Amino acid sequence: MQQNSLTTVESRIYATKDVKITHLKQGSTTYSKMSFPIHCGIYSEIETKEFIFQFNLNSEIFRAKGKGREWAHPHEWLKRTPGNDWVYYSTGGYTGVFEATGEYYLPNFQYPTNSILGGHPFAHEEITRISGSWYQFLLELQAQQTDLPRHFGNFLNQVITNSPEKLEQKAQLLHEIIGGRISVLPPDARHVDYNIIPLTISEGCLYKCAFCKVKNNTVFTEKSDAEIRAQISRLAKLYGRDLINYNSLFLGEHDALQSSPERILFSIETACKEFDFDHSYTAGTNVFLFGSVTSLLNKPDAFFRQLVESGAMTYINIGLESADQQTLDKIGKPLTERLVQEAFWRGQDINDRFPSVEITANFIMDENLPDNHYKKILHLIREQQVHVKPKGSIYFSPLTFDRPSRTRLFEFNRIKIQSRLPTYLYIIQRF
Ligand code: SF4
Repeated sequence: MQQNSLTTVESRIYATKDVKITHLKQGSTTYSKMSFPIHCGIYSEIETKEFIFQFNLNSEIFRAKGKGREWAHPHEWLKRTPGNDWVYYSTGGYTGVFEATGEYYLPNFQYPTNSILGGHPFAHEEITRISGSWYQFLLELQAQQTDLPRHFGNFLNQVITNSPEKLEQKAQLLHEIIGGRISVLPPDARHVDYNIIPLTISEGCLYKCAFCKVKNNTVFTEKSDAEIRAQISRLAKLYGRDLINYNSLFLGEHDALQSSPERILFSIETACKEFDFDHSYTAGTNVFLFGSVTSLLNKPDAFFRQLVESGAMTYINIGLESADQQTLDKIGKPLTERLVQEAFWRGQDINDRFPSVEITANFIMDENLPDNHYKKILHLIREQQVHVKPKGSIYFSPLTFDRPSRTRLFEFNRIKIQSRLPTYLYIIQRF
């Protein structure tokens, strides 16, 4: 992997009995799934007796944790997203979380989502104390550390300029550039811990399903090449020095695959070049997008061949929801089960033939769905599969929000055990 000149900059450390500042700490260069936290990228760190705060290359806080007894677990941490949400990563007892989500850490949010796992970490005083008062702690630290060496004093000054208000303004600018907050990211973005750069190449979706809580009223519309180019250039400026830590692109919004093949390929090529993913500190390049039954069935093989030639690993997540007509009708998805099943097999076919393209699929979970819903899914993911396959994840998305449920988890585990495809829960995360 080629690396940018920043990666050759050495870390510098300042340490006293009260504080340790590590400037330009070099983390892992690959995303890996481990039962202890391994953080990717280059970042800086301020550690006191009570806290650890981490900052990206724009000197903006993006991770924090407590060190005292009140902190739930030494492996757990808080992350601030570019959309300015604090997310708490909990171990959740490891085994249950890993089996259900494919990740060792469970993201917990401050907004309603469909997770059926986890507790309420933001009800814990120590967690809200850090997410709410980190800036005050840093101001106090700055007042105490009057004789910091210049290099570290400058770094602390930069950190202090990024106040909570300024970070919120930056998040608003990000949303303004991409045309609004992203209500949901694809589940596959978990492979890079949701560290994506979003680029809106189309808006809206085709079906406006009755059950869906993340849709908008926009009729499906593609952005022009000029609009996409302008977004890319504004995003590159916004991510600034921290761009080097990114290697992944999310093409929004809800059905980017419905865009023309030329527009999708143009967007990937232009963005990867402008964001200089070839020289990212983090190895590999990934592209994530959503597709629909219609957009998947309409894309010819030639398009997937071109995706492979782009050099990126492309994950396309398709909302199938159900392979049973009665269930599709009940949830208000205007499709036939025949078309859903055809899209499922088209995804399998692509996964078998295009090594750097992965089509993943979502099915819903809920109380009181017709019996045939689960039966017909199992027909596709077990009975019709000759072998166990490592590729083509199936995600189950609970329809209810903010209702952790042991019964749903039990139901999910029953299906997972029988599935011959990798099978996980889909936890809705916004950006
Ligand atoms: S499930 Fe997908 S296609 Fe249906 S309304 Fe929601 S975003 Fe649109």
